[in-house]
Amino acid sequence: MSSENIQMVDVKSQYLKIKEEIDQGIQDVINSCQFINGPKVKEFQASLESYLDVKRVVPVANGTDALQIALMALNLKPGDEVIVPAFTYVATAEVIGLLNLKPIMVDVDPNTFNLTAAIFEKAITEKTKAVVPVHLFGQCAEMEGIMKIANAKGIFVIEDNAQAIGSDYIFSNGKNQKSGTIGHIGCTSFYPSKNLGCYGDGGAIFTNDEALGEKIRMIANHGQSKRYYHDLIGCNSRLDSIQAVVLNEKLKHLDAYNIARQKVAQNYDNAFSSLENVEIPYRDKSSSHVFHQYTLKVKQNKRDELKSFLADKNIPSMIYYPVPLYEQKAFSAFANSVELPVTHALCQEVISLPIHTEMMKETQDYIIDHVRQFFNA
Ligand SMILES: *Cc1c(COP(=O)(O)O)cnc(C)c1O
Repeated sequence: MSSENIQMVDVKSQYLKIKEEIDQGIQDVINSCQFINGPKVKEFQASLESYLDVKRVVPVANGTDALQIALMALNLKPGDEVIVPAFTYVATAEVIGLLNLKPIMVDVDPNTFNLTAAIFEKAITEKTKAVVPVHLFGQCAEMEGIMKIANAKGIFVIEDNAQAIGSDYIFSNGKNQKSGTIGHIGCTSFYPSKNLGCYGDGGAIFTNDEALGEKIRMIANHGQSKRYYHDLIGCNSRLDSIQAVVLNEKLKHLDAYNIARQKVAQNYDNAFSSLENVEIPYRDKSSSHVFHQYTLKVKQNKRDELKSFLADKNIPSMIYYPVPLYEQKAFSAFANSVELPVTHALCQEVISLPIHTEMMKETQDYIIDHVRQFFNA
Protein backbone atom coordinates (compact mmCIF):
# COMPACT_ATOMS: atom_id res chain seq x y z
CA MET A 1 0.00 0.00 0.00
CA SER A 2 0.94 3.61 -0.49
CA SER A 3 4.46 3.12 -1.68
CA GLU A 4 4.02 5.58 -4.51
CA ASN A 5 6.07 8.66 -4.31
CA ILE A 6 6.96 8.67 -0.62
CA GLN A 7 8.98 11.79 0.11
CA MET A 8 11.20 12.85 2.98
CA VAL A 9 9.16 16.05 3.16
CA ASP A 10 5.88 16.77 1.35
CA VAL A 11 5.71 20.54 0.89
CA LYS A 12 3.08 20.23 -1.84
CA SER A 13 0.28 18.60 0.19
CA GLN A 14 0.87 21.14 2.93
CA TYR A 15 0.58 23.98 0.41
CA LEU A 16 -2.71 22.64 -0.94
CA LYS A 17 -4.30 23.05 2.50
CA ILE A 18 -3.41 26.75 2.71
CA LYS A 19 -3.43 27.47 -1.02
CA GLU A 20 -6.13 30.11 -1.00
CA GLU A 21 -4.49 32.28 1.65
CA ILE A 22 -1.02 31.88 0.15
CA ASP A 23 -2.09 32.56 -3.43
CA GLN A 24 -4.05 35.64 -2.38
CA GLY A 25 -1.17 36.95 -0.27
CA ILE A 26 1.34 36.50 -3.07
CA GLN A 27 -1.01 38.20 -5.52
CA ASP A 28 -1.39 41.12 -3.08
CA VAL A 29 2.39 41.57 -2.98
CA ILE A 30 2.58 41.58 -6.77
CA ASN A 31 -0.27 44.09 -6.97
CA SER A 32 1.46 46.34 -4.44
CA CYS A 33 4.89 45.98 -6.10
CA GLN A 34 6.45 46.29 -2.63
CA PHE A 35 8.72 43.33 -3.10
CA ILE A 36 11.46 44.41 -0.71
CA ASN A 37 11.04 45.68 2.86
CA GLY A 38 7.32 46.08 2.36
CA PRO A 39 4.65 45.91 5.05
CA LYS A 40 4.41 42.10 4.73
CA VAL A 41 7.96 41.71 6.00
CA LYS A 42 7.28 43.96 9.00
CA GLU A 43 4.07 42.07 9.70
CA PHE A 44 5.92 38.76 9.73
CA GLN A 45 8.68 40.20 11.89
CA ALA A 46 6.11 41.32 14.46
CA SER A 47 4.22 37.98 14.41
CA LEU A 48 7.44 36.05 14.91
CA GLU A 49 8.54 38.35 17.76
CA SER A 50 5.24 37.68 19.47
CA TYR A 51 5.27 33.92 18.79
CA LEU A 52 8.78 33.55 20.15
CA ASP A 53 8.30 36.14 22.88
CA VAL A 54 11.56 37.80 21.89
CA LYS A 55 12.33 41.53 21.70
CA ARG A 56 13.85 41.66 18.25
CA VAL A 57 13.56 39.60 15.10
CA VAL A 58 15.64 40.62 12.07
CA PRO A 59 14.53 38.79 8.91
CA VAL A 60 17.39 37.98 6.52
CA ALA A 61 17.98 36.15 3.24
CA ASN A 62 18.81 32.67 4.57
CA GLY A 63 19.99 30.77 7.63
CA THR A 64 23.66 30.87 6.68
CA ASP A 65 23.55 34.66 6.42
CA ALA A 66 21.82 34.75 9.81
CA LEU A 67 24.76 32.92 11.39
CA GLN A 68 27.31 35.08 9.59
CA ILE A 69 25.63 38.36 10.55
CA ALA A 70 25.27 37.19 14.15
CA LEU A 71 29.04 36.61 14.31
CA MET A 72 29.74 39.92 12.57
CA ALA A 73 27.85 41.73 15.33
CA LEU A 74 30.17 40.51 18.08
CA ASN A 75 33.33 42.58 17.39
CA LEU A 76 35.51 39.49 17.11
CA LYS A 77 39.08 39.57 15.83
CA PRO A 78 40.74 37.21 13.34
CA GLY A 79 41.90 34.09 15.15
CA ASP A 80 39.34 34.34 17.94
CA GLU A 81 37.97 30.91 18.76
CA VAL A 82 34.38 29.87 18.24
CA ILE A 83 33.30 26.49 19.61
CA VAL A 84 31.02 24.48 17.33
CA PRO A 85 29.81 20.87 17.32
CA ALA A 86 31.42 18.70 14.63
CA PHE A 87 28.13 16.90 14.02
CA THR A 88 26.09 19.55 12.20
CA TYR A 89 25.33 21.03 8.82
CA VAL A 90 28.34 22.72 7.25
CA ALA A 91 26.88 26.24 7.44
CA THR A 92 27.32 26.42 11.21
CA ALA A 93 31.11 26.20 10.94
CA GLU A 94 31.57 27.64 7.47
CA VAL A 95 30.66 31.19 8.49
CA ILE A 96 33.23 31.01 11.30
CA GLY A 97 35.98 30.20 8.80
CA LEU A 98 34.65 32.76 6.35
CA LEU A 99 35.12 35.55 8.91
CA ASN A 100 38.68 34.42 9.66
CA LEU A 101 37.68 33.18 13.06
CA LYS A 102 38.82 29.79 14.26
CA PRO A 103 36.20 27.02 14.50
CA ILE A 104 36.97 24.75 17.43
CA MET A 105 35.13 21.56 16.62
CA VAL A 106 33.91 19.53 19.55
CA ASP A 107 32.05 16.28 20.08
CA VAL A 108 28.38 15.87 20.92
CA ASP A 109 26.27 13.85 23.32
CA PRO A 110 25.56 10.38 21.86
CA ASN A 111 21.89 10.53 22.89
CA THR A 112 20.81 14.07 22.02
CA PHE A 113 23.37 14.57 19.20
CA ASN A 114 23.89 18.02 20.73
CA LEU A 115 26.62 20.02 22.42
CA THR A 116 26.57 19.76 26.23
CA ALA A 117 27.71 22.17 28.93
CA ALA A 118 30.49 19.76 29.94
CA ILE A 119 31.88 19.42 26.41
CA PHE A 120 31.69 23.20 25.95
CA GLU A 121 33.46 23.90 29.22
CA LYS A 122 36.35 21.55 28.39
CA ALA A 123 37.01 23.28 25.06
CA ILE A 124 37.24 26.82 26.46
CA THR A 125 40.60 28.61 26.16
CA GLU A 126 41.66 32.23 26.63
CA LYS A 127 40.82 32.82 22.99
CA THR A 128 37.25 31.50 23.16
CA LYS A 129 34.88 34.31 22.28
CA ALA A 130 31.73 32.51 21.18
CA VAL A 131 29.97 29.17 21.04
CA VAL A 132 27.31 28.00 18.59
CA PRO A 133 25.10 25.26 20.06
CA VAL A 134 23.02 23.61 17.34
CA HIS A 135 19.56 22.28 18.25
CA LEU A 136 19.95 19.33 15.94
CA PHE A 137 16.96 17.50 14.44
CA GLY A 138 14.48 19.52 16.53
CA GLN A 139 15.62 19.18 20.13
CA CYS A 140 17.42 21.80 22.20
CA ALA A 141 20.99 21.57 23.40
CA GLU A 142 21.61 21.90 27.15
CA MET A 143 21.10 25.67 27.15
CA GLU A 144 20.82 26.25 30.90
CA GLY A 145 24.26 24.84 31.63
CA ILE A 146 25.79 26.36 28.51
CA MET A 147 24.48 29.85 29.39
CA LYS A 148 25.71 29.60 32.95
CA ILE A 149 29.29 28.86 31.84
CA ALA A 150 29.19 31.33 28.96
CA ASN A 151 27.92 34.18 31.12
CA ALA A 152 30.51 33.50 33.80
CA LYS A 153 33.30 33.65 31.21
CA GLY A 154 31.99 36.42 28.97
CA ILE A 155 31.49 34.12 25.98
CA PHE A 156 28.76 34.89 23.42
CA VAL A 157 26.18 32.22 22.70
CA ILE A 158 24.64 32.03 19.23
CA GLU A 159 21.97 29.35 18.93
CA ASP A 160 21.69 27.64 15.55
CA ASN A 161 17.96 27.09 15.68
CA ALA A 162 17.51 26.20 12.00
CA GLN A 163 16.10 22.76 12.87
CA ALA A 164 14.18 23.46 16.06
CA ILE A 165 11.91 26.45 15.57
CA GLY A 166 8.88 26.16 17.83
CA SER A 167 10.49 23.85 20.36
CA ASP A 168 10.46 24.77 24.03
CA TYR A 169 13.45 24.62 26.30
CA ILE A 170 12.49 23.72 29.87
CA PHE A 171 14.68 25.17 32.62
CA SER A 172 15.28 23.30 35.87
CA ASN A 173 12.86 25.67 37.66
CA GLY A 174 10.13 24.62 35.21
CA LYS A 175 10.20 27.84 33.18
CA ASN A 176 9.77 27.42 29.41
CA GLN A 177 11.42 29.47 26.72
CA LYS A 178 11.33 29.11 22.94
CA SER A 179 14.48 27.70 21.38
CA GLY A 180 16.59 30.39 19.79
CA THR A 181 15.69 33.04 22.38
CA ILE A 182 17.90 31.83 25.22
CA GLY A 183 21.38 32.65 23.91
CA HIS A 184 22.58 36.18 23.21
CA ILE A 185 21.54 35.64 19.60
CA GLY A 186 19.46 32.98 17.86
CA CYS A 187 19.50 32.16 14.16
CA THR A 188 17.10 30.25 11.97
CA SER A 189 16.54 29.21 8.37
CA PHE A 190 13.27 29.20 6.44
CA TYR A 191 14.56 26.82 3.77
CA PRO A 192 11.45 25.10 2.32
CA SER A 193 11.96 21.78 4.12
CA LYS A 194 12.52 23.32 7.58
CA ASN A 195 9.75 23.17 10.19
CA LEU A 196 8.84 26.75 9.28
CA GLY A 197 9.80 26.93 5.61
CA CYS A 198 9.05 29.42 2.87
CA TYR A 199 8.92 28.94 -0.91
CA GLY A 200 12.48 30.00 -1.57
CA ASP A 201 15.26 31.13 0.73
CA GLY A 202 14.80 32.95 4.01
CA GLY A 203 16.18 33.25 7.51
CA ALA A 204 15.99 35.30 10.69
CA ILE A 205 18.01 36.41 13.67
CA PHE A 206 16.53 36.82 17.17
CA THR A 207 17.76 38.64 20.23
CA ASN A 208 16.49 40.07 23.49
CA ASP A 209 19.32 42.63 23.50
CA GLU A 210 17.92 45.78 21.84
CA ALA A 211 21.33 47.32 21.11
CA LEU A 212 22.60 44.11 19.57
CA GLY A 213 19.35 43.82 17.60
CA GLU A 214 19.84 47.29 16.17
CA LYS A 215 23.42 46.48 15.20
CA ILE A 216 22.31 43.24 13.55
CA ARG A 217 19.64 45.10 11.61
CA MET A 218 22.25 47.58 10.41
CA ILE A 219 24.76 44.90 9.39
CA ALA A 220 22.10 43.08 7.37
CA ASN A 221 21.44 46.36 5.56
CA HIS A 222 24.89 47.57 4.44
CA GLY A 223 25.77 48.85 7.91
CA GLN A 224 23.36 51.68 7.31
CA SER A 225 22.18 53.85 10.25
CA LYS A 226 20.01 56.04 8.06
CA ARG A 227 19.66 56.07 4.33
CA TYR A 228 23.07 56.48 2.64
CA TYR A 229 24.89 56.80 5.97
CA HIS A 230 26.98 53.68 6.58
CA ASP A 231 28.48 53.25 10.04
CA LEU A 232 29.63 49.65 9.73
CA ILE A 233 30.80 47.27 7.03
CA GLY A 234 27.73 45.14 6.54
CA CYS A 235 26.17 43.05 3.84
CA ASN A 236 22.93 42.82 1.93
CA SER A 237 20.66 40.18 3.37
CA ARG A 238 16.91 40.61 3.04
CA LEU A 239 13.81 38.48 3.30
CA ASP A 240 11.53 39.37 0.40
CA SER A 241 7.84 40.19 0.75
CA ILE A 242 6.59 37.11 -1.08
CA GLN A 243 8.46 34.83 1.34
CA ALA A 244 7.15 36.88 4.27
CA VAL A 245 3.57 36.24 3.11
CA VAL A 246 4.18 32.49 3.03
CA LEU A 247 5.87 32.54 6.43
CA ASN A 248 3.20 34.66 8.04
CA GLU A 249 0.53 32.22 6.95
CA LYS A 250 2.54 29.16 7.95
CA LEU A 251 3.51 30.61 11.33
CA LYS A 252 -0.19 30.43 12.30
CA HIS A 253 0.04 26.66 11.82
CA LEU A 254 3.54 26.07 13.19
CA ASP A 255 2.42 24.53 16.47
CA ALA A 256 -0.05 22.26 14.67
CA TYR A 257 2.66 21.30 12.16
CA ASN A 258 5.04 20.39 14.98
CA ILE A 259 2.34 18.34 16.71
CA ALA A 260 1.70 16.49 13.45
CA ARG A 261 5.41 15.64 13.28
CA GLN A 262 5.40 14.52 16.92
CA LYS A 263 2.53 12.14 16.18
CA VAL A 264 4.46 10.50 13.35
CA ALA A 265 7.50 10.26 15.63
CA GLN A 266 5.43 8.63 18.36
CA ASN A 267 4.07 6.12 15.91
CA TYR A 268 7.60 5.29 14.72
CA ASP A 269 8.84 5.08 18.31
CA ASN A 270 6.14 2.57 19.22
CA ALA A 271 7.03 0.41 16.25
CA PHE A 272 10.80 0.54 16.60
CA SER A 273 11.48 0.68 20.34
CA SER A 274 11.62 -3.09 20.67
CA LEU A 275 13.93 -3.66 17.69
CA GLU A 276 17.37 -5.00 18.41
CA ASN A 277 20.30 -3.01 17.04
CA VAL A 278 18.15 0.10 16.71
CA GLU A 279 17.92 3.11 18.99
CA ILE A 280 14.93 5.39 18.67
CA PRO A 281 15.44 9.14 19.15
CA TYR A 282 16.24 10.06 22.73
CA ARG A 283 13.77 12.44 24.39
CA ASP A 284 15.49 14.99 26.57
CA LYS A 285 13.27 16.10 29.46
CA SER A 286 14.66 19.66 29.15
CA SER A 287 13.26 20.16 25.68
CA SER A 288 10.26 19.46 23.54
CA HIS A 289 11.24 17.73 20.30
CA VAL A 290 9.81 19.13 17.07
CA PHE A 291 11.28 16.38 14.89
CA HIS A 292 12.77 18.28 12.03
CA GLN A 293 14.25 14.83 11.44
CA TYR A 294 13.30 11.44 12.83
CA THR A 295 16.70 9.84 13.23
CA LEU A 296 17.43 6.26 14.23
CA LYS A 297 20.79 4.90 15.28
CA VAL A 298 21.49 1.55 13.66
CA LYS A 299 24.18 -0.60 15.25
CA GLN A 300 26.37 -3.41 13.87
CA ASN A 301 27.13 -1.66 10.61
CA LYS A 302 23.66 -2.33 9.28
CA ARG A 303 22.77 1.28 8.51
CA ASP A 304 23.75 1.33 4.83
CA GLU A 305 22.12 -2.05 4.25
CA LEU A 306 18.89 -0.72 5.76
CA LYS A 307 19.09 2.34 3.54
CA SER A 308 19.34 0.32 0.34
CA PHE A 309 16.70 -2.15 1.52
CA LEU A 310 14.29 0.77 2.01
CA ALA A 311 15.29 2.35 -1.32
CA ASP A 312 14.31 -0.91 -3.05
CA LYS A 313 10.85 -0.49 -1.54
CA ASN A 314 10.65 3.13 -2.73
CA ILE A 315 11.19 4.48 0.76
CA PRO A 316 13.61 7.41 0.79
CA SER A 317 15.90 7.98 3.75
CA MET A 318 18.76 10.38 4.39
CA ILE A 319 22.06 10.34 6.23
CA TYR A 320 22.42 13.56 8.23
CA TYR A 321 25.43 13.74 8.35
CA PRO A 322 27.74 11.25 6.64
CA VAL A 323 31.05 13.07 7.29
CA PRO A 324 32.24 14.85 10.45
CA LEU A 325 33.15 18.49 9.85
CA TYR A 326 36.78 17.86 10.80
CA GLU A 327 37.08 15.35 7.94
CA GLN A 328 35.79 17.82 5.34
CA LYS A 329 38.52 19.11 3.00
CA ALA A 330 37.38 22.69 3.46
CA PHE A 331 38.15 22.48 7.17
CA SER A 332 41.48 20.68 6.97
CA ALA A 333 43.25 23.80 8.22
CA PHE A 334 41.10 23.81 11.36
CA ALA A 335 40.70 20.11 12.04
CA ASN A 336 41.68 19.19 15.54
CA SER A 337 44.28 16.46 15.70
CA VAL A 338 41.99 14.56 18.04
CA GLU A 339 39.29 12.47 16.50
CA LEU A 340 35.86 12.91 18.04
CA PRO A 341 34.56 9.40 18.80
CA VAL A 342 30.86 10.16 19.22
CA THR A 343 30.66 12.22 16.03
CA HIS A 344 32.64 9.55 14.21
CA ALA A 345 30.27 6.80 15.37
CA LEU A 346 27.11 8.80 14.64
CA CYS A 347 28.20 9.40 11.06
CA GLN A 348 28.19 5.61 10.63
CA GLU A 349 24.99 4.91 12.55
CA VAL A 350 22.36 7.57 11.87
CA ILE A 351 19.55 7.32 9.36
CA SER A 352 16.63 9.75 9.03
CA LEU A 353 13.24 8.50 7.88
CA PRO A 354 10.53 10.46 6.06
CA ILE A 355 8.62 12.76 8.41
CA HIS A 356 6.38 15.70 7.61
CA THR A 357 3.13 17.38 8.51
CA GLU A 358 0.84 15.64 6.02
CA MET A 359 1.99 12.08 6.41
CA MET A 360 -0.79 9.55 5.84
CA LYS A 361 -1.22 6.70 8.29
CA GLU A 362 -0.84 4.18 5.43
CA THR A 363 2.49 5.69 4.43
CA GLN A 364 3.73 5.51 8.00
CA ASP A 365 2.59 1.90 8.24
CA TYR A 366 4.27 1.02 4.96
CA ILE A 367 7.57 2.46 6.21
CA ILE A 368 7.19 0.84 9.63
CA ASP A 369 6.45 -2.58 8.16
CA HIS A 370 9.54 -2.49 5.98
CA VAL A 371 11.89 -1.26 8.67
CA ARG A 372 10.63 -4.03 10.95
CA GLN A 373 10.91 -6.55 8.14
CA PHE A 374 14.56 -5.61 7.62
CA PHE A 375 15.25 -6.43 11.27
CA ASN A 376 13.21 -9.68 10.99
CA ALA A 377 10.70 -8.38 13.48
C1 LIG B 1 19.48 24.61 7.13
C2 LIG B 1 20.53 24.87 8.15
C3 LIG B 1 21.36 26.01 8.08
C4 LIG B 1 21.43 26.93 6.90
O1 LIG B 1 20.29 27.48 6.44
P1 LIG B 1 20.16 28.00 4.94
O2 LIG B 1 18.88 28.77 4.96
O3 LIG B 1 20.14 26.83 4.04
O4 LIG B 1 21.32 28.91 4.67
C5 LIG B 1 22.25 26.22 9.12
N1 LIG B 1 22.36 25.36 10.15
C6 LIG B 1 21.59 24.25 10.24
C7 LIG B 1 21.75 23.35 11.41
C8 LIG B 1 20.67 23.96 9.23
O5 LIG B 1 19.94 22.83 9.32
